[in-house]
Amino acid sequence: MSAVLDRFLDYIQLDTTSREESETYPSSPNQLEFGRRLVQELQGLGLNQVRQDEHGYVTAIIPATREGGPVLGLLTHMDTSSAVSGEQIQARLVEYMGGSILLNETKQIVMRSEDFPFLADCIGKTLVVTDGTTLLGADDKAGVAEVVTLAERLMAPDAPPHGEVRIAFTPDEEISGGTRYFDIPGFGADFAYTVDGGPIGELEYETFNAATATIEISGRSIHPGAAKGKMVNAAAVACELQSILPPEEQPVFTEGHQGFYHLLSVHGEVEHCTMKIALREHDGEKFQAQKDRLNGIAQTLNGRWGEGTVSMTIRDQYYNMRPVIEKHMEVVDQAVSAFRACGIEPHIQPVRGGTDGARLSLAGLPCPNLSTGGYNFHSRFECIPVESMECMVDVLTKLVCSFGEEGVSHV
Ligand SMILES: [Zn+2]
Repeated sequence: MSAVLDRFLDYIQLDTTSREESETYPSSPNQLEFGRRLVQELQGLGLNQVRQDEHGYVTAIIPATREGGPVLGLLTHMDTSSAVSGEQIQARLVEYMGGSILLNETKQIVMRSEDFPFLADCIGKTLVVTDGTTLLGADDKAGVAEVVTLAERLMAPDAPPHGEVRIAFTPDEEISGGTRYFDIPGFGADFAYTVDGGPIGELEYETFNAATATIEISGRSIHPGAAKGKMVNAAAVACELQSILPPEEQPVFTEGHQGFYHLLSVHGEVEHCTMKIALREHDGEKFQAQKDRLNGIAQTLNGRWGEGTVSMTIRDQYYNMRPVIEKHMEVVDQAVSAFRACGIEPHIQPVRGGTDGARLSLAGLPCPNLSTGGYNFHSRFECIPVESMECMVDVLTKLVCSFGEEGVSHV
């Protein structure tokens, strides 16, 4: 078996599901255990300054074999999503020849080729699949396995010349905590990549700008028979507010670069009602326009129902990394070249969400996202071709070695 596959199959044995409801950091103890195992493995491979800090972040340095050039960082996350169980993952290798895949004979769980058209691209490859009762954990243990295998390759005596590489394994990415305590200056990279994307060739350097509007509506209850001119029905005002928003700008009707308003919740009755609305937009000006529109609607409703009926707080959550990355486009260009050098045509797409890389980019560490090779993350139908994992190790090798080469300067 290949080194990257061996590692992957080993890493997914340990359940490192992160838990939103937990009050500890990391949110589950097995993430610390996984980190300890990684520390041992990386020390065994001879990396420098291998450590696990008090928050569970594991970092290590692959020393340069060529002077000059920038310090490149690679980040992957140790936790898996709680959307589907990550306990006792029973992975299996399938030499895929086309058609549907029977994942579980006893439970008759089938991965149907009609439901998952990408399977056509996997014909002739060896797929790692689940038994249909858990996720696979390729998100992001495939990334972890690829980066550790890269480290092994770069530490070998016959490794191609390369600059310094710093690697980090982060906890709690799936519950938006991946960068909470990450020490960016301490990490010491000039720029970095997360290896946390889907099908091979995916390359992402654009995320949403995101905010949440929390809306409180104060009503006035009066016997409905005597309510004329007196009642303010908070629940009805909530419906009115939602009805003023452009109906086509909802998640269900949008894709690509189209932003949306997403009604997250409504709770209430006549006297009082609360709403939460998520705002998402790639473009900074349109993002501001979304906020202005919501505030304008609140003013309109207050004009109609009385000052103080609607009060709104809009809190920013995260921002698009694109404006940061655009100042360092070499980082994207080098990734494109590395994919092409391995025979993969990269597929650049906007993320309709946020990434750890976006938070790092905004904090000063430009950090696009690269594919792992996996499909159907957070699903019982998650799978990954072995060939894609092996190819990603090649892509990462090309990428690392290209920085600091003649003609490729500091970013
Ligand atoms: Zn992930």
